[in-house]
Amino acid sequence: MNTPAKKPATLPAYFQRRMNMESLLASRRVLRLVYEQGPLTQAEAARALELSQGACNLHFQRLEYEGLVHGERLQPEGRGRPRFRWELSRAQNATIGLVFDPPHLFVQLEDFAGQKALALETNLKMCRNHTDVAEKVSASVARAVAVAQERGLVVREVYAALPGVLDPLTGAVRRAVNFPALDGLDVQDLLRTKFQLSAHANSLGVAYYYGEAAEIPAHQTALVIYWDLGLGLVFGRNRQILTVQGGDARGRMLSELGHISIAADGPRCHCGQHGCLEAYAGGWVLLQRLAKFGVQTLEDLAQLAVTGKPGVDATIQEITRLLGRNLACALQMFGVTVVRVTGPLAPVFARGQAAFVAGLAEIIGAERAASLYVAVSNDVSDRLLRGATRAARHAYVYPDEFARLARVSSTLQGQHLAAG
Ligand SMILES: [Zn+2]
Repeated sequence: MNTPAKKPATLPAYFQRRMNMESLLASRRVLRLVYEQGPLTQAEAARALELSQGACNLHFQRLEYEGLVHGERLQPEGRGRPRFRWELSRAQNATIGLVFDPPHLFVQLEDFAGQKALALETNLKMCRNHTDVAEKVSASVARAVAVAQERGLVVREVYAALPGVLDPLTGAVRRAVNFPALDGLDVQDLLRTKFQLSAHANSLGVAYYYGEAAEIPAHQTALVIYWDLGLGLVFGRNRQILTVQGGDARGRMLSELGHISIAADGPRCHCGQHGCLEAYAGGWVLLQRLAKFGVQTLEDLAQLAVTGKPGVDATIQEITRLLGRNLACALQMFGVTVVRVTGPLAPVFARGQAAFVAGLAEIIGAERAASLYVAVSNDVSDRLLRGATRAARHAYVYPDEFARLARVSSTLQGQHLAAG
């Protein structure tokens, strides 16, 4: 059913009295249920949430008024009350994903059914500072908002995937190593003040994770490795990113695993420490080690890897094996059963996949290593963009979960995370 969501002009007076119209929070549980398990009837919702049918009905009406769900009448009205089956209004609601992959900015508009409505690419090369970047962002978002309006889509949330070190509270870029023009860019604030849009700014890793999440069976714990200049690691389960709570109010995303020291006297990492896993296996290390083959960019590296050139191949085997050995402990700890590898260096990993499993086997045994499902992602950039719009959708339905995600690794920042 595809009824366009229209706001009724007025709501019954009893409804206004019984519901706080200022906040969607109370209806959020019902929205989540429809998002996860819909379509469903009011009776089914009432059972699942242990609420009365009357209360559920109120929430559904509220959500319908907001254009988030619509009801399908199940049987002709007899003497009793009509029964409805409620469904998420997927074709009427949308999110925007922003991916900053310097010097490119990708902007994508997608509805809740996953239909792409717009994809834009902007070059940020000429931008000197964050004000210039903000102008480009505004122009692209304005275009996306216009397309949404033309198509009758309500933009619920924006997710901005950013590289570098972000402010833990605001998500503003503190230091983007390879593209200083981003430094100081506060996307959340920009979108809120200029477009009245709710936005989340966080790492590229979140978008990479959601780009893969649809492929990961529910109830399986997955490690998503995104291999670019650095080495990103995200653990997730049931489309939710796992965090370590520790003593901080905000959960760490475990992405700092790449900056855990594996050898005290190891090479210096760009984070300032010695012997980080990333200082052995980050894309920047591979670029240095393979420079003699004329490799300058990650794209060069990916192309060279598939040729199987002997000197190159040996380096790839060595590094992927080291990755396997050093991630084995974390895989065991979180009960990981699925490993998905993405990012521009995914083709390089494909070349070394067997060595990765062999490295794992050195620690956890061949049988357990072989029982892991390891897959290398294809269509990496398309998945990243979809991942950003999906992250935004997820952030809209589960705002608390997103608010808990840390924005920066404490090791990278060189100090403890600011308390929530
Ligand atoms: Zn490091």
